[in-house]
Amino acid sequence: MSPDLIIQERHLTELRALLARDHGVEASAYLLFGTSEIKQDPWSKRRRRRFTSFEVLPVPPEDHVSADAQHITWSTSSYVRLLKRAEDEGLIVGIVHTHPTGPACFSEQDDRNEGELAQMARNRNGKSAELISVLLAGKDQILARLWVDEREPIPMAHLRVIGRTYRIHERLPSTSGLEHLHRQGLAFGDQLNTWLRTLRIGIVGCGGTGSATAMLLARLGVGYLALFDEDTADLTNLNRLHGSKRSDVDAMRSKVEIVAREITEAGLGVKAHAMKGWVGDPTFRDALKSCDVIFGCTDDHSGRLFLNRLAHFYLIPVIDIGLAITPNDEGGGVKDLSGRTTVVFPGAPCLMCRGIVDPAKAREEDLRRASPEEYERQKREAYVRGAGNPAPAVVTFTTSTACMAIDELLQALVGFRGPEGWAWNRLRRFDLMKDRVPGALSGDHCPICESQDYWGRGDINPFMDRVG
Ligand SMILES: [Zn+2]
Ligand SMILES: [Zn+2]
Repeated sequence: MSPDLIIQERHLTELRALLARDHGVEASAYLLFGTSEIKQDPWSKRRRRRFTSFEVLPVPPEDHVSADAQHITWSTSSYVRLLKRAEDEGLIVGIVHTHPTGPACFSEQDDRNEGELAQMARNRNGKSAELISVLLAGKDQILARLWVDEREPIPMAHLRVIGRTYRIHERLPSTSGLEHLHRQGLAFGDQLNTWLRTLRIGIVGCGGTGSATAMLLARLGVGYLALFDEDTADLTNLNRLHGSKRSDVDAMRSKVEIVAREITEAGLGVKAHAMKGWVGDPTFRDALKSCDVIFGCTDDHSGRLFLNRLAHFYLIPVIDIGLAITPNDEGGGVKDLSGRTTVVFPGAPCLMCRGIVDPAKAREEDLRRASPEEYERQKREAYVRGAGNPAPAVVTFTTSTACMAIDELLQALVGFRGPEGWAWNRLRRFDLMKDRVPGALSGDHCPICESQDYWGRGDINPFMDRVG
């Protein structure tokens, strides 16, 4: 079992402010975590666990006993109170401390202190109680480990800090041997290639934008892809579905099967999994929870609402993609030709608050999926609007929009435009050659993005607090 840790960037900012001390003295705080249990990772076929940062809490001043540059001790009454809360709410307690001037490793004193705290957790909350320990060393180094007993802590296999940027803190084997990525390395260094190789990326919707996204990510050197789509290819897809052939339509092949085949046959060492079905299907949960980033390439409102929640509960950034082509009323030309990329993650207005998802349409899609007959009846009686005419689609613009979305990921990883990270929302008018980054506000009572109750909460029952 190899544990992963995801820390919200805003939590790290909060911790750094809380733990800033003069004269290089160590300081500490608590960090509560949600848990994501993955029974089987679709790529490694192994069980995985991921911890997601949920809430920062200061150690109360009365609990500080002593601190110097080498170590910190605190009385444990606040720790015991926190263990009770963790047990009641199904959270994991984490302790965070600093080595302001190094070393960037846990000390023997840390081992002893943490072993004792882990023992206390087990004494109070039972044998399965765990403790997470995070060390902030120097200016920007982070280390973390998991105590499942008081003896030997397990280092985190993946350690990520996510917000406006996507930072990978674990040490990874070099990919300098991957010759086909050499020219990309000349632009951004081998480091980027190494990071991309370790990423697990989900692509939800494998049509025009989704197939382009998948193919480009494979060329870019992403190591693991999961493709989700329920449709089979038809003749009208051949104008934009990358990798598709007329023979695929004749054979009624699924879109995910076609794209996965092309990626595998390219021989780039990318592991692509085809997941045929609707993204909300419970059998896909492990695969989705295993992802580091998800590209939302679907027109389906219900699917988008699902991903909107997933991003917040599991701290998996969702880069949602849309293309809108509005033809002129009187034949010929276009009135508007816009690509959009929106990053969904705690701290930014969500897809609902940006008006990108229509909840009424999502309900209709749910009804059509759950009970097609009832949906047809309501459509006849005009209670539901039904699917509209097919939307216009041109391969150059579906592909350009896919490029926009992947560039946002690159921006979060390497900051090629500057250090500010990805744009939460970008609108590109292809007809006017103009970019805009429209802002939005979280709705007053949005349960997803206004309240922080779900951010990093991980597994709860029912799944993602969805009713029905
Ligand atoms: Zn220490
Ligand atoms: Zn919202």
